[in-house]
Amino acid sequence: MRHVILFSLSIFSIFLYSCGVDEVIPNSSGGVDGMITLEEAEAQDYNLMTPGYDIQVAIREDVNADVDNILDILDERAADFLECQFMMNPDIGAQEFQIPSGDKVPPLSELRVFVVPINFECDAVDKNVCAGIYYFSADLIIIAKEGFARCGTLPLWKHEVGHRYGMAADHSNQSDFEPCIDPPDCPIDLIDIVL
Ligand SMILES: [Zn+2]
Repeated sequence: MRHVILFSLSIFSIFLYSCGVDEVIPNSSGGVDGMITLEEAEAQDYNLMTPGYDIQVAIREDVNADVDNILDILDERAADFLECQFMMNPDIGAQEFQIPSGDKVPPLSELRVFVVPINFECDAVDKNVCAGIYYFSADLIIIAKEGFARCGTLPLWKHEVGHRYGMAADHSNQSDFEPCIDPPDCPIDLIDIVL
């Protein structure tokens, strides 16, 4: 029986690996919010700003969280990711930064982040439920606060920042970004299943 379960989990992992720009992550409550399009995200009022990188943020009114705490988390984990991934001073996030591919990534102050409560329907190419999504063309991230409830707040944030700094939309080079993109509060067994 255990083998059957492990086999099922393996299939599940492959399924998740195959996702495109979206991340399909089960929510512990089983809830999925309605469709959020890029157009809807772009129409938000990005009147909040993180204290460190000046990331432009909009938090939907039904997100149950302390605003300052959300802003701090966005900054801190972006810094953690940059330091971990590039082994450089995380101040590189405040400037245009050339990643190993040669592409230049704009400063984080040009990034817009729309924070929503839970997993949401999305208009990704091959998936219709997301816990986070990065729109390269718009330099915009939609991120669920509890996209994967058992892994703490904003579990996919580092992952989406990873996409901004060179992780391919089809995750073909995801191994180059681990463990720097892993959710910090996620139990090991869940990481094995979902990432
Ligand atoms: Zn991804």
